[in-house]
Amino acid sequence: MKVELLELAEDRVRFLLRGVTPAFANGIRRACLAEVPSLAIDEISIYDNTSVLFDEQLSLRLGLVPIKAEDLSLYRVPEECDCGGAGCPACQVGMTLTAEGPATVHSGDLRFGDPGVKAAFEKIPIAILGEGEKLMLEGIVTLNRGAIHTKWQAGTQCGFKNLPQIRIGENCEGCGKCVDVCPRKILATGEGDGKVKVTDPTSCSLCKLCVVECEIGAIEVVPIKDIFVMKIDTDGSISAKDLVEGAAAEIKRRASSLSQRLGELS
Ligand code: SF4
Ligand code: SF4
Ligand SMILES: [Zn+2]
Repeated sequence: MKVELLELAEDRVRFLLRGVTPAFANGIRRACLAEVPSLAIDEISIYDNTSVLFDEQLSLRLGLVPIKAEDLSLYRVPEECDCGGAGCPACQVGMTLTAEGPATVHSGDLRFGDPGVKAAFEKIPIAILGEGEKLMLEGIVTLNRGAIHTKWQAGTQCGFKNLPQIRIGENCEGCGKCVDVCPRKILATGEGDGKVKVTDPTSCSLCKLCVVECEIGAIEVVPIKDIFVMKIDTDGSISAKDLVEGAAAEIKRRASSLSQRLGELS
């Protein structure tokens, strides 16, 4: 297997996976969605809520606020913590929210017991409070996995596609019709031998509109079976790099565990 980085930002990574099966690429995708732990508000006690939102609506919104930690490795999933899930500083952190209208309450108004923990984005709207309306609540933030509940799902858009091979035939006349229909704008004419050129095959969506448009069959788009373009976006609670590394580590851990179990049976 070979990995080739195409793009790396704090909340997005794109890379090529060469020499793997679709099942392996899908394993990385699924692990990014469901198996890499992140923080989320898990329990809420509401002492005062005179806003127009029901307590349940408020709780749902708060649960979906992405929360990040300076050092996530300090936290444990409750079931895997030494306290056995009873609750301790290693597996939970307190959160409070107090506000009075008129005001718009944002995620940046949440206060956490650990100064290294904060909302990933400051301006996510939680509630609009009218004159004299109040919110007073506290909650518990825990670490867990997207497989347990979506609020712990750090991966948002996680997908992959085969890398296409775009072949331009000798009979290409450089008419530019395929250039005009390409929705990704990755075809260009006007240089060198006059034939159409491909500027970025990794951005091709395999829609084949170019193939349909070319009346003389001079362009062909074929998916390469064992090379995949992976695109992973996060909700901001952890970096895209940490998400993919966490997914790979989880697959490795499971494979080792399976191998060990099978060894015990033989
Ligand atoms: S591939 Fe076909 S449509 Fe595209 S420039 Fe060449 S001849 Fe024209
Ligand atoms: S298959 Fe679609 S995205 Fe790819 S080059 Fe052709 S028109 Fe563009
Ligand atoms: Zn604990």
